Amino acid sequence: RPSRFEGIEPTIFSQMSALAVRSGAVNLGQGFPDVDGPASVLEAAASALRQGANQYAPGIGVPALRAAVAEHQRRHYGLEIDPDTQVCVTTGATEGVAAALLGLLEPGDEVVVVEPYYDSYPAMLQVAGAVRRPVTLRAPDFRLDPDEVRAAVTPRTKAILLNSPHNPSGTVLTREELEGVAAVAIERDLIVVTDEVYEHLTFDEHLHMPIATLPGMFERTLTLSSLGKSYSLTGWKVGWATGPVDLVAQVLDAKQWLTFTSGSPLQPAAAVALSEEPDWPASLAADLRIRRDLLCSGLAEAGLPARTPEGTCFATTDIAHLGWRDGLEFCLALPERAGVVAVPLQGFYDSDAGRHLVRWAFCKTPEVIRDGLDRLRTAD
Ligand code: PMP
Ligand code: GLN
Repeated sequence: RPSRFEGIEPTIFSQMSALAVRSGAVNLGQGFPDVDGPASVLEAAASALRQGANQYAPGIGVPALRAAVAEHQRRHYGLEIDPDTQVCVTTGATEGVAAALLGLLEPGDEVVVVEPYYDSYPAMLQVAGAVRRPVTLRAPDFRLDPDEVRAAVTPRTKAILLNSPHNPSGTVLTREELEGVAAVAIERDLIVVTDEVYEHLTFDEHLHMPIATLPGMFERTLTLSSLGKSYSLTGWKVGWATGPVDLVAQVLDAKQWLTFTSGSPLQPAAAVALSEEPDWPASLAADLRIRRDLLCSGLAEAGLPARTPEGTCFATTDIAHLGWRDGLEFCLALPERAGVVAVPLQGFYDSDAGRHLVRWAFCKTPEVIRDGLDRLRTAD
């Protein structure tokens, strides 16, 4: 294995989904929905295929999707962005993360990253030759302390890598937390790369606020998002990066060597999702809130109480008091004990703070969630 991947474990999501398939367990691990997104959008993709959108798209993305992304940012957040120079379509936010880090960082640059982090961040930081400086969200409340962000910055720091709504904790960063991060970024002249793939999946009074909307932040912020979570189309891998012209150009610079362009027929269909089904994500979030409550109350009854998430489609249980040494051990034994798969979080932390944390996904049908809960309640 080349040294650029040294110490990086195979992604836990594939490991745990393979375990679910092998063992026949209910998969409450990997975050993919078991019902597809809007029929009109599926139809738009089929029709784009039939109408011949089958050759290379422009590297920056098809005009209709870039226009729809710009309109989305305007409608939801009041951000005016130029679809021709301030949007770059990516193959999911995963490519967005890779292209951003490879396009922006020099080897040796330091990046302050909130842990638990999505597992592609440390892998791609390492590939980029960058050094991660984690700031920890801790159970039980998983809040971000901007003073810890400030303390993690050194003269070598180039960027802060944020994710809100946050996978896996379910935290939605508040205006105060974001203002604290923004103050550090401005004071220390840092770029902010922010992964907002769960932007529409928030519950109750919690609302997503893009850090790019804060004063002085647009010009230093690269925002990443995608269609997958908002429209229950995780397999499509259509995403986008938005931000100031210079940062988006750096993403495109890297993207041209990663994938050159993203898939042609899905881009016009993604444009249809954003422009013709603008309310679909909100109804998904309303529905997910009910499933969140179903999962959290069932977990509590099963002796596995989880913190009520403010956003995303994940809830986290601290199993420290249950006599298990760590979450991985717990999750590896769970299919046999209960016929359920969950995701251990220690791989998402550099520190020990995630050792006893286990994540459950609730982007599953109520029947699947109930089945999983019944199994957990009757587990030995
Ligand atoms: N970032 C986070 C925080 C995620 O949870 C995911 C999974 N949806 C991604 C990025 C990857 O998104 P995509 O499937 O669009 O590449
Ligand atoms: N983002 C999803 C999760 O956190 C799945 C993505 C993946 O499997 N890489 O479960």
